[in-house]
Amino acid sequence: MIQFDPCEICGADQWASAYHGSIRDGAFGSLAEKAEVRQCGGCGVERLAEDFCLPESAYSTAEYRQKLKQGLDSQDYLKTHDPLQLHTLRVAQSLSLRDSIVADAGCAGGSLLDHVRGITTEQVAIEPCDIYHERLAAQGYHVFPDLIQATGKWAGRVEVAFSIHVVEHVPNPRSFLEAIRTLMAPGGRMVLASPNRRDLLLDLLPDDYPQFFYRVVHRWYFDADSLADCARRAGWEVEAVKPVQRYGLSNTLRWLRDKAPGGAEGLPGINAGADDWWKSHLETEGRAECLYLILKNPRQE
Ligand SMILES: [Zn+2]
Repeated sequence: MIQFDPCEICGADQWASAYHGSIRDGAFGSLAEKAEVRQCGGCGVERLAEDFCLPESAYSTAEYRQKLKQGLDSQDYLKTHDPLQLHTLRVAQSLSLRDSIVADAGCAGGSLLDHVRGITTEQVAIEPCDIYHERLAAQGYHVFPDLIQATGKWAGRVEVAFSIHVVEHVPNPRSFLEAIRTLMAPGGRMVLASPNRRDLLLDLLPDDYPQFFYRVVHRWYFDADSLADCARRAGWEVEAVKPVQRYGLSNTLRWLRDKAPGGAEGLPGINAGADDWWKSHLETEGRAECLYLILKNPRQE
């Protein structure tokens, strides 16, 4: 019997079936079978049954990166993740980063902080996996294994926080966002990213894509409304919701042709213009594969 406790975000105790079947267990091709995902009747979030989730302790060791078959040393991490920072920087361009104190909650090897340190004054690096700590400290970042330990020195001081593709992993997204908010200065902004449950490929490939989209490392699956709702419950104001599509038309066509991810690899006859048009189409329609929110810590009266 699969157990679902009351929703960690809103407290509701009504769950409707959302998906039952195989899900991704690590890199593409490895599957966990007969997994159960349900949708909360209160806040609309979807949740993977806890029995199938990777335990939180896996994130402080090599287990999580090994599961994804990702390189464990910082150089491997940086090579894979540096190109992805462009998407976060594009969303963050309306924020004033210059001379600010920034934090990245779940920063891994520190790729995003590397991209903003030139114009910011202090960088707070929060990362449970200690494999990365030596490199993060060597860059001059203030390193903490979790948000609670960062609070001692940084509560009320951070002006811009980032948390990119982390909230879908944590045991309680609401308390995670509350803990980040305690670090923030009044009026401080946060850039929050998570996969989008309205990803068009879920509709285009209903028999093949769900077992890639749902995965043991993601406990939570948000759409724009449920992610904004969770942020508000954690005390944030929602300033903007921005769907972001990182992959172009070639990626979608490869999925339809091969039933497998093609990453950023192109296809003959599909040029950069077609890729860009497709990205912008999915973003405008809210059907992009990622969601970014810009959140504001309200000023205390
Ligand atoms: Zn809920």
